[in-house]
Order: sequence, then C-alpha cells, then structure tokens
Amino acid sequence: MLVLVLNAGSSSLKYQLINPETTEVKASGLCERIGIDGKLVHEAKGHKISKDIEMPTHKEAIEIVLNFLTTGEDKVIDSIEEIQAIGHRVVHGGEYFNNSVIINEDVISKIKSLIPLAPLHNPAHITGIEICMELMPETPNVAVFDTAFHQTMPASNYMYAVPYEDYKKHGVRKYGFHGTSHYYVSNEAKKMLDKEDSKVIVCHLGNGSSMCAVRDGKSIDTSMGLSPLEGLVMGTRSGDLDPAVINYLMERKNMTASEMINYLNKKSGMLGVSGVSSDLREIIEAAKNGDERANTAIDMKCNRIKKYICSYAGVLEGVDAICFTAGIGENADLIREKVCNGLEFMGVEIDEEKNKIRTDENREINKNSSKTKIYVIPTNEEYVIAHDTYELVKG
Ligand code: AMP
Repeated sequence: MLVLVLNAGSSSLKYQLINPETTEVKASGLCERIGIDGKLVHEAKGHKISKDIEMPTHKEAIEIVLNFLTTGEDKVIDSIEEIQAIGHRVVHGGEYFNNSVIINEDVISKIKSLIPLAPLHNPAHITGIEICMELMPETPNVAVFDTAFHQTMPASNYMYAVPYEDYKKHGVRKYGFHGTSHYYVSNEAKKMLDKEDSKVIVCHLGNGSSMCAVRDGKSIDTSMGLSPLEGLVMGTRSGDLDPAVINYLMERKNMTASEMINYLNKKSGMLGVSGVSSDLREIIEAAKNGDERANTAIDMKCNRIKKYICSYAGVLEGVDAICFTAGIGENADLIREKVCNGLEFMGVEIDEEKNKIRTDENREINKNSSKTKIYVIPTNEEYVIAHDTYELVKG
C-alpha cells in the first residue's frame, strides 16, 4: 500500500509518499509560499529539485505534487490511483479524538469547531482535506492529531487552576502537542528498555519544543498547553512566564491582545533573548564569539529543560530513560550535555564521547554506570501518520 502523508500549513504543504509496510519513502517534498508566489522542493529516486512554480492556492500545490509523483523521469507511480490512502497531520483534535480516525463529514465539522483553539493550523488542515476529497474522491483520508496521544493525561495534570466552568464551557485546559513525535519516540525507548511499566521523559527540541512524561506508553504530563506557547523556551516562543507580564506589557507598550500573542509567539524565546536569531546554530556561534545574550539564551533554554526533567521525574516517580529528539535534540550535543550535567544525583550520567557521535540511528549516550538511560532517537512523525492511516484503512 502507498500512503500520501500531508501536512498542510497556512502557506505551506509538506508531503511524503510512504509504503507503511516497508517504511520506504518513495518521494518527499515541501511547497512553500502558497498564495504568494510558490516554491517547490521535491525529492525522489535520489534526485532533489528546487523550483519556483506559481501556486495561487493549496489546490494548485496538491495538483503540482500529484503531477511530480506521476510524470517525468523521476515519477514514482504511474497514476494517482496507486495512492491508496491519504494521512493528514491535524494539530488540534481537542477532547474529541484520542486516536487517529477515518475522515467523514462529522470529523470535518469537529476539526472546524476546534478552529478557535488552533486558528492558524486547523483551517489549513481542512483546506488540505477538502482538496484531496475533491481531487481523489475514491481515496480514503485519515486524520492524525498532534493532541491525541496526550488524551491519557489525568485531570490533575491537564486542568488549569481557573474556575471549573471555564474548562466545561470554553475548553480551557492543557491539550499538549507534538503527540505523534512523543508517541513514536517513547515507543522506541520502551522497546530499547524492554521493561514493564517504563518511565520515560521525551524532550522534543526543535524550533517548537515540548516535553512529555510517558508511563508505560501513556502520556501523563506534557509541557505545551492550550496552545503550543506554554512550556520550554523555544525558537521564537517564550514558553512559561508569569501571566501578569501580559497585562503589564500591554499597558506599557499600548499593545492589543493579538499583538501581545504575536509578541510571545514570534518575537520572544531564543530570538527575543539573544537578539541574534531563532536558529540555535547561529546562537551557538554567537555565544562562541563571546555574545553574552546568546549565552544567556542557551542557559535559559537548558535550565528550563532541566526543570521539566526534574518535575517529570517526580510526576513519574522515577525515570528509566530521558530521550532527545527533533532538530536540536538529535543534533546539538552541547544542549544535551548542558541539560544532563548536574543531574547525576538522580542517576543521569552522560558519556561525553558517545554524546558527540553523529548517526541517524537510535543511540544510547549515557555512561555504562548511569542508572538512567539517555537516548537520542530521531523522530519520525510521517511514519506514524502513514502507519495509522494504513491500519485504519486496512481495517
Ligand atoms: P526542527 O524544528 O526540529 O527542524 O529543529 C530546528 C532547530 O534545530 C533549529 O534551531 C536548528 O538550529 C537546530 N539544529 C539543527 N541542526 C543543529 C546542529 N547541528 N546544532 C545545533 N542546532 C541544530
């Protein structure tokens, strides 16, 4: 079976054509600047091409992708009928979905009803789904939600301490995100540990970053909340702060509520503190050249992760493995070292040499004497989406 995995953003479309039975990725790519001018990067049969192509809407973008998959020298299928299912990444499934589902009218209306909770993401996903239904009416579509994995959190961890009626009436609670990645990585760690009742902490550290406490395969707590703004210090997002900062700054800077949310989402985090960039590689470079603010930003990021590790060790009543994943977690040995150093009191001993080794495979980077395992596990959200889609459609 071949599954087309789609991640539709407001002006972008990421895709992979995957055989979920063999895990082979037949083709992958990214459409960007949809509705502006249009740029495509497409990879298949070992060739990577980058092209400026006009994409006025997501419909043209999907048509272009299907065209690339089925025609030309690097075509990987003869016709779109060979795509047996489409798996869509959907950011917000609210409390409706604790698993992936085959998309029907009811699912679409529920995803639409959650737009107030994910105003940037869910509308783009709906667009992607509706265009696929139009272009490939016979092909089943599956929704895989970022929030679904976290639906196992107990109320004591997902509730905010605000009046209860606002949870009931307005859905104000912690939902958590990056669930597909946290599921994949914790499941790999569970296999590596080969232990009943495993206690795993996953650090998904990318431009957006979140952590998850996973007990025996179930999410117990996570750092992102009602939106992906809560928790760690991210590329441009502040993560945790005193809510009083919001009103204080809005009054002093004469900002509206939406300007304030934009400030916390787009102008804060590593970018805001360092003033250098949101990209960690550039911040590390600046810090090496003696930039104090860049240094402070790195220390803030690592200290926040460390605090969450300690707090999740408490939530889990112990920890068997700490896992690092995503762009920073997989590649930045400096961050892993800074996070783990000082945690020897809880049995966390990082091996400096193993930490520096680079491979694309799951690996253990703790000393042999470490009571807690430290793993680097490359995430694979697309594979989870393809696999869930395959299982549902096959069923
Ligand atoms: P992601 O959102 O998962 O693609 O991760 C993007 C982040 O990973 C960016 O901040 C990059 O700077 C960071 N990153 C990627 N490679 C490295 C590396 N070799 N060292 C440090 N940071 C990296």
